[in-house]
Amino acid sequence: MIVLLLLQIIFFVGYYVMSVVFGLFRIFLMLVKFKNLAISTLCNRIPIEDRKKVVIVGGGFSGSIVAQKLENDYQVTLIDTKDFFEFTPSILRTIVEPQHVKKIQILHSHYLKHTNVIQKEVLGVQSREVILDDRSVEFDYLVINSGSSYNSPFKESSVVSSARANTLRENYYHIRKLKRILIIGGGIVGVELAAEIVDHFKGKEVTIVHSQSKLMNRFPKKTIRYTEEFLQKRGVKLIYNERVVAHRGQTFITDQGSEIIAEQAFLCTGIAPNSNFIKNSYPDAISESGYIKANDHLQMAGTTYYRNIFVSGDVLHVREEKLAQTAECTASIVVNNINAMESRCEHKLQSYKPFAKPVLISLGKYTAILVYKDYSITGFLPALLKQAVEFKTMVRY
Ligand SMILES: Cc1cc2nc3c(=O)[nH]c(=O)nc-3n(C[C@H](O)[C@H](O)[C@H](O)COP(=O)(O)OP(=O)(O)OC[C@H]3O[C@@H](n4cnc5c(N)ncnc54)[C@H](O)[C@@H]3O)c2cc1C
Repeated sequence: MIVLLLLQIIFFVGYYVMSVVFGLFRIFLMLVKFKNLAISTLCNRIPIEDRKKVVIVGGGFSGSIVAQKLENDYQVTLIDTKDFFEFTPSILRTIVEPQHVKKIQILHSHYLKHTNVIQKEVLGVQSREVILDDRSVEFDYLVINSGSSYNSPFKESSVVSSARANTLRENYYHIRKLKRILIIGGGIVGVELAAEIVDHFKGKEVTIVHSQSKLMNRFPKKTIRYTEEFLQKRGVKLIYNERVVAHRGQTFITDQGSEIIAEQAFLCTGIAPNSNFIKNSYPDAISESGYIKANDHLQMAGTTYYRNIFVSGDVLHVREEKLAQTAECTASIVVNNINAMESRCEHKLQSYKPFAKPVLISLGKYTAILVYKDYSITGFLPALLKQAVEFKTMVRY
């Protein structure tokens, strides 16, 4: 009892100390940002109308970084179907804590001071312009960061920030009333969603149906075992090697004939690249799975490569886990390469080669797994780290 009390005190003191440290760090970053902005505004003597035009498609992890880093030196236009940036890795937390959405969204117009933001869908691309429904926008450089789509409510396109918050709140009140929930797909998203639900609500019957023989099958055995035990201890039912193929009302039927009763099913079955708008003009640059191909310098590539069109983030055709960190990494390379081309230092062009990155998997609010190659750390520390990553990312905006 006393140990438990002590642990709780340590936890809360630690939490508040961290909040103060984060707060001070935030003020420090704001000062640095202000200083950089002032220097760059004073030093850049090229009138804005004479600067090269950069059009950025998509304002997720990748596009928002490219816009931030280029807006002081180029005429930048960001075109996004949404009017805000959202920290997607925390979106599953908002399913059970809708008020958390305030911490993970920010309007593009808020953090981009010199960028022309257009909330529209890009419908097509020509060699020097992108096509919208009512106009076209010229570019010298185009950066495609259109990312990937996921089933609602995890990722939404064409929404304004307030509508998104309302949807998440309604979802929360809806889930609160449910007794039986089915999650289709046992990858990271399905696992994190199940863990958030059983961690937050007591007495819900949650079932995951997964078409493979293990949850998150690309991860180390130890990680998978820990995740299974975590979920099973909290009553989550796991069904392997089956696919949901039909449903009649609240009865979901698998290809092996199992029937699962659930008032609500969440589809957590993977992502689809947003590349349709390129298909007509550059069919050769689209891979079989719909991703956009690029050379090592991230210039779009088909039968030939396109010097002034760059591809970054989830939509890039590269064999590795689609992660926010990869999107940030490719975005920085694109920024470097546009600057290198502009200063005619093509020998400074950087290349992107996939490499192993650490992944944080949340299991509710206070438990997570940090996985790097074959190593993993489980427990409260990785959970704290995940919050720190969210903080570190949002403070940039
Ligand atoms: C539920 C969930 C949890 C995740 N958790 C993690 C995690 O814990 N860690 C991690 O590293 N990664 C995680 N990811 C993956 C991460 O979110 C993505 O890798 C990252 O968002 C990719 O960034 P991006 O900029 O390439 O694309 P996106 O974030 O997809 O942004 C693309 C933007 O382009 C817009 N767009 C698309 N088409 C058009 C068009 N034609 N015209 C104009 N705009 C367009 C979209 O609306 C969107 O705003 C998670 C993803 C999901 C769905």
